[in-house]
Amino acid sequence: MSQKKIAVLGSTGSIGTQTLDIIAEYPHLFRADVLTARRNVALLAEQALRFQPRKVIIADRSRFGELSALLDGSGVKVEAGAEAIAEAAADNEPDIVVTAMVGFSGMAPTIAALKAGKRVALANKETLVVGGSIIDAMLKGKLPEGENAAPGAHIVPVDSEHSAIFQCLVGEDRKRMRKIILTASGGPFRKFSREQLEKVKAADALKHPNWDMGAKVTIDSASMMNKGLEMMEACWLFGCTPQDIEIAVHPQSIVHSMVEYVDGSVKAQLGMPDMRLPIAYALSYPDRLPTERNPLTLPSYASLTFEAPDMERFPMLRLAFEAMAEGGTAPCILNAANEIANDAFLHDRIGFMDMPRITSKALAEIPATANPSIDALFETDAEVRSICRQWIEEHKF
Ligand code: MG
Repeated sequence: MSQKKIAVLGSTGSIGTQTLDIIAEYPHLFRADVLTARRNVALLAEQALRFQPRKVIIADRSRFGELSALLDGSGVKVEAGAEAIAEAAADNEPDIVVTAMVGFSGMAPTIAALKAGKRVALANKETLVVGGSIIDAMLKGKLPEGENAAPGAHIVPVDSEHSAIFQCLVGEDRKRMRKIILTASGGPFRKFSREQLEKVKAADALKHPNWDMGAKVTIDSASMMNKGLEMMEACWLFGCTPQDIEIAVHPQSIVHSMVEYVDGSVKAQLGMPDMRLPIAYALSYPDRLPTERNPLTLPSYASLTFEAPDMERFPMLRLAFEAMAEGGTAPCILNAANEIANDAFLHDRIGFMDMPRITSKALAEIPATANPSIDALFETDAEVRSICRQWIEEHKF
């Protein structure tokens, strides 16, 4: 394998820093070409000095001066703004674009990278949750000329569950897949009653996740919205419907997901809960990279357990199934409402069970439209965010 140039979009977040761990572990195979961050100037500058990328981009334009000053004389080019990030994703230089930014901001650079024929190591759930119909049409060449993915463009999922499913499908005919069993840790509140859930705070959710994740994903994981988003993402990645996906709560997070075939055989992918494994696979696929890091020690686990999720206590999961079945802009509405509610919960402005209240109200009161264009998705996203912010402001939900 020749050395691949990697653009890490969102390099200061949890997936981004772990992607840089992999680049550092295999310097003969990978080189950081572009690093981008939303606003963490200090860490982005530190990463730039260590990895010497061709270019760094800060999304928040107001921090351009500060970043430029920190990298003065380093030889690293400094740019700012969301457009510069999308341009960098489509640039000739990088071989692989890792989309590790949080939220809907991952959509534009993913589209740009696919149009430029890149491998996208997709770590941004919202891109497929919101824009799955468009990305799917792009990859199948069904959009008007000039808007489709270029030859060679493809997505390799980074999320541990989707990486597991992807790995279970290698060498298989997808038509022989009967269902996907998507595993979920169940989050820190798995055993809490509804009354207890009304009282939990963000700090309780952020205490002890199985996985090293950012705050947004950790809270989504506690509410099980994360699993809802992953179910939607899996539908687009693997060409199936919500009915083809079963959720299994598996608190040990060792079985990362499974695929059942028409003959009743079930394949699973196992490993320690360490995101560096699926990240390395997304960069090296179809090859596998030897490592000594974090081997699975099954005897240290007394048991591996699986149970059905409780959609009464975790209504976010039910809302995700409903929105995906409805289609059109419904997943976009769900996602935007959740992003606002998640952020409000993180800052202790609303309660835990208010997140599904707000999301449910958004789905009920904001009409969804079928077959949205990219522009319609961006409009819906902005509209839903502003409506939900107002509901939170006025405490009407
Ligand atoms: Mg996951």
